[in-house]
Amino acid sequence: MKGLKGKNALITGASSGIGQAIAIRLAQEGCNIAINYRKSSEAAEDTEELALQKACGDVENCGVKSLLVQGDVSSEQDIVEMVETVVEKFGSLDILINNAGIQTECASHEIKAEEFDRVINVNLRGAYLCAREAIKQFLAQNHPGTIINISSVHEIIPRPMYVSYSISKGGMENMTKTLALEYAKQRIRVNAIAPGATITPINEDWTKDPEKKAIVESHIPMGRAGTSEEMAAAVAFLASDEATYITGQTLFIDGGLTLYADFRETWSA
Ligand code: NAD
Repeated sequence: MKGLKGKNALITGASSGIGQAIAIRLAQEGCNIAINYRKSSEAAEDTEELALQKACGDVENCGVKSLLVQGDVSSEQDIVEMVETVVEKFGSLDILINNAGIQTECASHEIKAEEFDRVINVNLRGAYLCAREAIKQFLAQNHPGTIINISSVHEIIPRPMYVSYSISKGGMENMTKTLALEYAKQRIRVNAIAPGATITPINEDWTKDPEKKAIVESHIPMGRAGTSEEMAAAVAFLASDEATYITGQTLFIDGGLTLYADFRETWSA
């Protein structure tokens, strides 16, 4: 895609699922990739190997640069150091993908404050602080960068038993719009994608159980869950120079989930 070759991208939570697919896709497009992971470097190393293999075939002589950056996005200090490391190693930062995310299931009247905070601190505060550090760098380097937030269909669909997750993604919509408006003059674009049900480790409870999977897929007009690669393709587009006039938007990638399958048939006179 236009304008991606040689760009420096940081992808948070890139050792699995959608983040891993984004790292691979951006590498295939010729971006240098900084792969953030929270704990174990092993899975992040897998992402790196896969990305370089797919980008170049020959890992030894690959023109695409890669970097593993440990950091917990619920820690401000980790985020500051992570962005510093990327800039030190790559020379600049052009693309931030705020992908790291967690969810916990609990009745809303029973959730403990610490548990609520944990989700918000990763999904929303963490994404904001990563954006803050990236924007500082974009302004300092004096050439615009772009941010893509990985939101969710639960940005707009309420999700009982997951109130902290729903709030985090609802907040992400406003953050995307606010930052897009605030920095449009500096040509910094901020967008989001909102995946529907996607086959990744976060959803193992239903993706690995055929009966549960069938129930989930019955709510999707296109009749199937999405793949991480389908999410990554949209991210590559939004990060590229094919999308230079798009900012403040959330692109829903959900097989029609937000069209509400239950209303497929006429339900009122
Ligand atoms: P996943 O569990 O495979 O990926 C989440 C990643 O975030 C993991 O690599 C995890 O290690 C990392 N992470 C968690 N806490 C972190 C922290 N404190 N610091 C750094 N990294 C941390 O699941 P996924 O489905 O690939 O999720 C990726 C994003 O997509 C999330 O933001 C999620 O909310 C969003 N999403 C997923 C779906 C879906 O159906 N899979 C749907 C909508 C939105």
